[in-house]
Amino acid sequence: MHSRDAVFLEDFCPKLRVRRWRQSLHNFTNKNCIYCGKPSESIDHILPMSKGGLSITKNCVPACLACNGDKSNAEAFHWYRKQTFYDPRRAMALRAWMNGDLRLAIRLLEWANPDSEAKPSIKQSNGKDDQEWGFQAA
Ligand SMILES: [Zn+2]
Repeated sequence: MHSRDAVFLEDFCPKLRVRRWRQSLHNFTNKNCIYCGKPSESIDHILPMSKGGLSITKNCVPACLACNGDKSNAEAFHWYRKQTFYDPRRAMALRAWMNGDLRLAIRLLEWANPDSEAKPSIKQSNGKDDQEWGFQAA
């Protein structure tokens, strides 16, 4: 009964639905910018709206204002590769996100996140450094 009311309310009030959708995007990345890992303060269109990008989950990622503003209308991967905080794992996460594979994207982001609990165990298990992941950067 109540959930039906809620659905009705969302249909009736698209703004509420958009707000919830945006919130869910931020939750996917633990409220971190998908590019640099800082707190996400905005939603960035991977393909800019000015180039026909749609406001759908596959094309919208949480981003901090600095990244969002700096990227502007540039092609996302092209722009991202030039950043000092470029991380191949985040680039892979971005690709997975665009493919609609949010679970994979989230896993990659958790891995890339320095605060993540999962990272130390990976390091200990094979003793290799993250530098290895720079191989695709050039
Ligand atoms: Zn950022």
